[in-house]
Amino acid sequence: MSVRVRFAPSPTGPLHIGGVRTALYNYLFAKKNNGKMILRIEDTDQSRFVPGAEEYIAEALEWCGIRFDEGIQSGGDHVPYRQSERREIYRKYIDRLLNAGHAYYAFDTPEELEAMRKRLTDKGVSNPQYDHHVRMEMHNSLTLKQAELEQRIRDGVPYVVRFRIPENQDVYLKDLIRGEVHVQASTLDDKVLFKSDGMPTYHLANVVDDHLMEVTHVIRGEEWLPSAPLHLLLYEAFGWKSPEFAHLPLLLKPDGHGKLSKRDGDRLGFPVFPIEWVDPNTGETSTGYRESGYLPEAFVNFLAMLGWNPGSEQEVFSMDQLIEEFSINRVSKKGAKFDIEKAKWFNQHYLRALDDATLAGMLQEILRQENITAPMERIIRVVELVKERAVFPRDLLLQSHFFFVAPTTYDKAVVKKFWKPELAPHLRAVADILAQHAHLPAPALKELVMDYIKTHDLKTGQVMNCIRLAMVGQSMGPDLFEIIATLGVDEAIRRLNAMVERV
Ligand code: GLU
Repeated sequence: MSVRVRFAPSPTGPLHIGGVRTALYNYLFAKKNNGKMILRIEDTDQSRFVPGAEEYIAEALEWCGIRFDEGIQSGGDHVPYRQSERREIYRKYIDRLLNAGHAYYAFDTPEELEAMRKRLTDKGVSNPQYDHHVRMEMHNSLTLKQAELEQRIRDGVPYVVRFRIPENQDVYLKDLIRGEVHVQASTLDDKVLFKSDGMPTYHLANVVDDHLMEVTHVIRGEEWLPSAPLHLLLYEAFGWKSPEFAHLPLLLKPDGHGKLSKRDGDRLGFPVFPIEWVDPNTGETSTGYRESGYLPEAFVNFLAMLGWNPGSEQEVFSMDQLIEEFSINRVSKKGAKFDIEKAKWFNQHYLRALDDATLAGMLQEILRQENITAPMERIIRVVELVKERAVFPRDLLLQSHFFFVAPTTYDKAVVKKFWKPELAPHLRAVADILAQHAHLPAPALKELVMDYIKTHDLKTGQVMNCIRLAMVGQSMGPDLFEIIATLGVDEAIRRLNAMVERV
């Protein structure tokens, strides 16, 4: 049997990075096993529907390079892939459960449900729920006469359909990550599967679709583990073989205490969404990894390592290498602590690995936004000099701004530390040396200036720092003579003279 997996988000808002990781692990698993990957939208809870969320999910996964073989965009043998368009299908299957006695209509009003809970709580029941203890005391098709039941349905009295959990049964779930999980069915409640608005709940739609779409492996977040026994019972009630399950560990806050939330990101200053999200109701914008300057390769590599390890020291993996190496057995049971510094480390790695022409294209675009123009050769040369220091594309400009715009102010602390008026004639002399040897490469220029410093008994650090100050405006940047060679001797001389005049 060939592997088929699905990513099944609900369009209730932007996709959290934990969701992206779930999609990624599904994708890696599918590709590794020459299987198929499905994108299904679980939008049966219309009250939680958020406009734009579905498009957001598709765009975010596309940016990550996670591709689907079937689904809302690609189509496939099991169209439609949006659950709200599959109502007829669920109607048919809920009837099957009703007819077989695995499900029943329930007419209890919110007040009656509340009264039931209160009754149980008063009796000392700690977890009051609609289950085999109470179902025969409630208003449902197990307790109503047939004629009365039919009348109510004809009259359009609102109802839900509940699953009749078998009383004396042990449910054994073999989870590919957690091993065997054992639950007594009698502890579960009679979950609502269908509502009178004609919509199934998540549980029914999810199980029916996984079966019809021939899903072989359900790989999803740990928060769905408590639902898994119910799902297994549903497969059994339908007489279907269940897929295999793998419940992924949580993404934890950086300190390891609790699940990573949007608030942690806001508080600690990092994105929790793959791409920017603008809330359609409030207009509030949440930044994404893409907009923060992360490369998709770095983001994917980083996410892959949050909860999975290759069993070796290797950390850097391309998507193809991840596919090659991925195995569910190496997904950890333990929650994975989120570490933004590691994300930056990956980004720096991938940024450095880009060729100079690509980086120069990025820098050119950033310069354009700043209304700065410069010849491409110059930009490529600059990129060669500063790329080692860049974590994000924007750092390319932060590190190189002075190459394109001459300093007009000089770092006060550096001036105070190194500048003395007696240096003025020496800096002019350095300008003369540069003028006379404009054709020489950086190391040769350096040698000439060093000779000058020695002959005039000057302090190397002091002179060099003042020349740097003239070129950059502060004490940062790559090799000083590479800066001079890149600026061109004429510009370097202008900057030396400008500083001597201004300081
Ligand atoms: N619609 C569920 C979600 O939003 C899918 C859970 C599952 O994969 O079964 O996460």
